[in-house]
Amino acid sequence: MTFDLTLTFDNGPDPDVTPYVLSILADFDIKSTFFVVGEKARRYPELCRMIVDQGHWLGNHTWSHTLPLGLMRDPRQETFEVLETHREISSLLGNRRLFRPMGGGGEIGPHLLSTASLQALRENRYSCVLWNSVPGDWRDHHGWPVQAAADLARNRWTVMVLHDTSLEAMTHLPQFIGDALSLGTRFRQDFPEGCLPIKDGIMAVPVSEICVAH
Ligand SMILES: [Zn+2]
Repeated sequence: MTFDLTLTFDNGPDPDVTPYVLSILADFDIKSTFFVVGEKARRYPELCRMIVDQGHWLGNHTWSHTLPLGLMRDPRQETFEVLETHREISSLLGNRRLFRPMGGGGEIGPHLLSTASLQALRENRYSCVLWNSVPGDWRDHHGWPVQAAADLARNRWTVMVLHDTSLEAMTHLPQFIGDALSLGTRFRQDFPEGCLPIKDGIMAVPVSEICVAH
């Protein structure tokens, strides 16, 4: 049995870590998605350009990354989080509009979106990209590959959330990728239906699964 793995990198771009991650992915000829924080994208537009130029997809990961959108309770701010980031990166997106909500530790549930942010995503024909693996690289810089390998063995197709924010954590990326390849893992850039509750602006799951009722 072969396993599929889609790698994603959240919370960047970062001038130290993003180029390093890009160089590793290039070494292995793996394409990925970088879900960027809008205010960082504004600070480092050249890194966003580099991501796209190397064949990766760029995604919207809110403007400020301060709270899950369903917990904000400020509809204007929730909309801003989606739309301001969209304005910042839209020229690099082409027809592919990918949004990853802030999970606040990786939990999936109605805290991910609010009514206002969901409306902004639907009107702009975004797809919402969730995950089934959060190995915790941001809190365990050296231990995350153990959890990542366990997740890989558990899922037929893993969508893994990593972060291009810690050089220390990402020094383990080449070894992890090498080990996964030696197990026959197939790396791919796209996402399984089960991780896409919104596709091109159209709901694929009941709203209440990913959005609070206000
Ligand atoms: Zn994040």
